[in-house]
Order: sequence, then C-alpha cells, then structure tokens
Amino acid sequence: MTESIPNTAPASFVPPRRVLMGPGPSDVHPRVHAAMARPTIGHLDPAFVAMMEETKDLLRYAFQTANTLTIPVSGPGSAGMEVCFVNLIEPGDTVIVCRNGVFGGRMKEVVERCGGVAVMVDDAWGTAVDTGKVADALKAHPGAKALAFVHAETSTGVQSDAETLCRLAREAGCLTIVDTVTSLAGTPVLVDQWGADAVYAGTQKCLSCAPGLSPVTFSDRALDAIKNRSSRVQSWFMDLNLVMGYWGGDGARAYHHTAPVNALYGLHEALVMLREEGLEAAWARHRTNYMALRAGLEAMGLELLVDEPHRLPQLNAVRIPEGVDEAAVRRRLLSDYDLEIGAGLGDLAGKVWRIGLMGHSSSATHVILCLTALEGTLRDLGVPIRAGAAAAAQKVLF
Ligand SMILES: *Cc1c(COP(=O)(O)O)cnc(C)c1O
Repeated sequence: MTESIPNTAPASFVPPRRVLMGPGPSDVHPRVHAAMARPTIGHLDPAFVAMMEETKDLLRYAFQTANTLTIPVSGPGSAGMEVCFVNLIEPGDTVIVCRNGVFGGRMKEVVERCGGVAVMVDDAWGTAVDTGKVADALKAHPGAKALAFVHAETSTGVQSDAETLCRLAREAGCLTIVDTVTSLAGTPVLVDQWGADAVYAGTQKCLSCAPGLSPVTFSDRALDAIKNRSSRVQSWFMDLNLVMGYWGGDGARAYHHTAPVNALYGLHEALVMLREEGLEAAWARHRTNYMALRAGLEAMGLELLVDEPHRLPQLNAVRIPEGVDEAAVRRRLLSDYDLEIGAGLGDLAGKVWRIGLMGHSSSATHVILCLTALEGTLRDLGVPIRAGAAAAAQKVLF
C-alpha cells in the first residue's frame, strides 16, 4: 500500500445547498436532477438512440434552426467553442475576433492554437461589439475565413448585435463563429434568421441544466468548409467528420466515444421543459426578473455597469460602491444566506459583482432573496444604502 495516501475512512460527498446567482452554473431544476438519476443504459441502445434523435430536434427548437448538424458536444461550453474553431480553422487562416470581455480573449487563444491568425477588434469591457469597426476589419482583411464574436459576454453583462454582425460577415463572404453560451434560452438566439454558421452554447446557464455539455449547430456553409478542408482536424476527439458518424445519420451509429448518458438525460429533460414553457415565455421571464432586480438595485442606490440597450437581462454587472470590501460581501451572502453571486473578472475584478438570473435561477423568489440578502448585508457592513429594495422589485413582479 502507498503510505502517502491518508488512511481515513472515506465518506460520501454531500454538497451544501446553495442558491446559485453567479455567472454559472445556475440552479438546476429538480426535474433535471431526477432525470439524471435514472438508470444508465448502453449508449448504442435503441432507446438511447431514439432519445438522441429527440434531443437534436429539441436543440433545433432552442437554437431556432433547421440545421441538420445540431448536437450536444460531450464537454462543457469551452469544448463546444473548441469544436467550432478546430473544425473550421486551418493553419494560415485569418479570423477576425471581437473582444469586449474575457471570452473573446479565449477565442484568440484557440485561433492561434489552430495555427490561424487572429485579427482583433477590441472594444471596452462593458460595451457591445462595435459593428462599424467590424465592417472596417472585414474590408481590411478580404480573405478572412471567419468572424468570431460572443453574443452574450458573461464577464460584463453585455449583449452584442448578432444579426448585424452575421449579415456583415455573410456580405464579406466570411463564416461566423458565435458564442451563445449565456444567451441560449435567456434572450433570442435566432440562428437561421441571423444566418450564423457555427454556434455553440452551454447547459449550465439559461437551460436550468447541470454543467458539462455544449449544444452546437452548424450551417450547410460551415459543413462544406469542414468537408473541404485541406488538412486533417488536429483533434481526433473533436473532428466533426468522425463525430457525425456517431450523432448523425438515421439509426446507423458508429462508435466514436461513450456519450455521457446520464448527463444527456438531464439535457433532454431541460429541453422538454423549455418546449413546455415556450422560448418566448422563457425570454419574457428572464426579462421580467431582470426588471425587478434592476428596480430593487436602483431603489438601494446601486448602479449597473452596462448601458440599458446592451444589458443582458440574465447577467447583471453591479458597480461596487466606493470603499466596500466586495469579497467580504460575497462571503457573507454565502455564509448567511447560502447565496452565491459572482465577482468581477479581468479588467472588472474588484469593480463589479455579477448577479445571474439564468434558467431556474430566474425567478421572483431568487430576485427577492438576492435583494433582501444584499440590502441586509450592506447595511450590516455600514454601507450607506437606501431601504426598500424588495418592495421596489415586488411592484414590478406582482
Ligand atoms: C460560461 C461561458 C463559457 C464557457 O463555458 P464552460 O461550460 O464554463 O466551459 C463560454 N462563453 C461564455 C460567454 C460563457 O458565459
């Protein structure tokens, strides 16, 4: 026996109960948890294959697309991102990458690891992607293979104009790679109407599902580009030419990797629930709860970072009042209320809190708890704020 392994009796891990109102994961619906606890079956079992087919249809609904290649990648949102880039980008390709937060920076990393050249279009954190600058970049780089941008920047709470960006790219003969990890099911993601080519999302933000899967969808133009590559995709696991043999086709399944069976039960259930609620109703719910949260924050005298027209309803960056120890506030929220909110990332570290109202965490109960907990905690720490946050939110909600 190895001596360095401590000889203590192992115990089951029982996590504390938390209310998740950060940048993700968000609260998982009990129906999704129940689905994930069902018996594991073989991933080539006809019953499982039938569920895979239904999942693809439900994802087409969520993405508002008729794209044949619409599947959940076995891996988190970052894996979906990587799948899009490694399949479309070949060594020497130019990619115009918009960066107005953390996730645009990651796209640059991935482009470069694919051997591509990233041409950056930078905008200040907390502002939307400037479509004029993108139009200029497309003109300056007529041979660019793709335009990549983040629809909903979770690091800042900004939504960019995906429809215009996709149109500009199409007019320039350029493919689009779009991050909708935080927007899918929270605000309109209209893949076919936008004419987007490669789009990836995540399960743990607005879908009320657990982390670990990444829905992706590819247009026929994107598929042509993948089929006509001059070099092999350098990643065997992510090569869509191989993955399609597993997820694609009707009935025939070639073994590629073992699908995360129970995680997929969870996604299927989350998508069934989205279908029951209806996409428009889900968008409206995210919007109403945002308006209630905003009313409460403003009643306290707190300010949001992002200008109203570009604000993401599901992720609110709140300016930290002068002289407040922001980490102490988050610690108190967690210890006193079991409530998790997010810290600022990168350029915004120490400057904002990020309050998520995503998926199952976008509810009146969550809004009222968060406002009450924040008001009580700030007052307790001696921060001069006004009272009545919950009442202001209730006026919007009921
Ligand atoms: C969360 C997030 C990701 C990454 O998803 P993971 O599941 O954490 O890998 C990518 N892009 C955006 C905009 C996100 O919010």
